[in-house]
Amino acid sequence: MKLSFSPEELAFRDEVRAFVARHFPPHQPFTPGTADEDRWARALLEQGWAAYQWPVEFGGTGWDLTQRYIWERETALAGVPARMGGMGMFMLAPVLYTYGSAEQCRRFLPGILDNSVEWCQGYSEPEAGSDLAALRTRAELHGDHYVVNGLKTWTSYAHIADWMFCIVRTESAARRQDGISFLLIDMRSPGVSVQPIVTLDGRHSTLNTVTLTDVRVPVEQRVGQEGQGWRYAKGLLTHERTGLAYVADSTRRLRRLRETAARTDTGAGRLIDDPLFAAKLAEVEIDLIALEITELRTLAETASGQAPGNQSSILKLQGTLVLQRLTELFVECVGPQALPYDFDERGLREEMSTYLIGRSASIAGGTNEVQRDIIARHVLGLS
Ligand SMILES: Cc1cc2nc3c(=O)[nH]c(=O)nc-3n(C[C@H](O)[C@H](O)[C@H](O)COP(=O)(O)OP(=O)(O)OC[C@H]3O[C@@H](n4cnc5c(N)ncnc54)[C@H](O)[C@@H]3O)c2cc1C
Repeated sequence: MKLSFSPEELAFRDEVRAFVARHFPPHQPFTPGTADEDRWARALLEQGWAAYQWPVEFGGTGWDLTQRYIWERETALAGVPARMGGMGMFMLAPVLYTYGSAEQCRRFLPGILDNSVEWCQGYSEPEAGSDLAALRTRAELHGDHYVVNGLKTWTSYAHIADWMFCIVRTESAARRQDGISFLLIDMRSPGVSVQPIVTLDGRHSTLNTVTLTDVRVPVEQRVGQEGQGWRYAKGLLTHERTGLAYVADSTRRLRRLRETAARTDTGAGRLIDDPLFAAKLAEVEIDLIALEITELRTLAETASGQAPGNQSSILKLQGTLVLQRLTELFVECVGPQALPYDFDERGLREEMSTYLIGRSASIAGGTNEVQRDIIARHVLGLS
């Protein structure tokens, strides 16, 4: 199994590094929530790298898995986003160009590519999260449109979204996964109402509930066949599940944690020299190295044609745990200063809010308990 890069891949890595450094050199890092976001989105579009996961014919790069990995790693290490397009870019677009009509691709992909149209994902409902097939939002066909009624929850970015891709029940089938359809809903349609959910960090940052009351959705906004939505949604969840190990992001956090701990005076010396703290740091670093090897192993297998399969559950589970431990250690490191520095003058989140919002990583995208179940059954072969 090949775990190192070829000369061509190393040359590509250098090209990526140079591109990122040209726009955000180390002395001028990317700052989220500022004009840097528009500047980076424009640079990506001009370079032709905005939709780095898409096939060339739809405006993507056509990069192979290793190139995508290098791109994601280098951008995360430099602290810039790998992509600017939100949920439309990495979750909906693959469904559209795989299962959608040519007309749907023409209509929706350009707005996703240039980041001018914001999308949100309407899957979860109050009684349907891990058990998504229990969803109850109904869509009834009336001539050339559906009438949709139901309640979606935990809908990230619904408050700023122009459109929502969602799954709804179009018929009651014997198997719950059947009879589900995939609809694209204009958020300005009459009957769509968005309510904020305030999260543990004390803010309405991303989450919402979306109430759908007699919402009319033209039939041409259904992707694929009626009743086949589960299949499309499952494909989409696989997309969501890759890249969830946060290895490069955690590597950057670890580096920053080391630097901060080296500057922190405990009264009895530097925190980084404290044996207890150093042991915790070493423990999380070892887990991170093991995670990186697992990620590279998965990449090597996938690049040689095997499906990523259930290993992605290991990456999601361990990736989340490492990330959460790092945010805990950061709070421990800055101690009482964590709270006063919670929001700086630009309203950016700092250590405490990163720690608090980081708890949700083990729920979103499939909970850790569910990942453990998958690992037990399908990786370890326990019944
Ligand atoms: C920050 C964040 C953003 C999100 N964004 C979106 C979004 O944009 N769109 C969207 O549709 N959804 C979104 N979600 C919802 C997310 O997909 C669900 O929260 C997740 O699937 C879990 O569902 P639930 O919250 O209903 O919990 P439940 O499924 O009710 O789970 C409750 C508890 O029971 C455990 N549990 C459930 N089933 C099992 C089982 N079979 N075995 C063992 N334990 C089990 C779970 O692990 C959990 O601890 C988001 C969630 C979060 C936290």
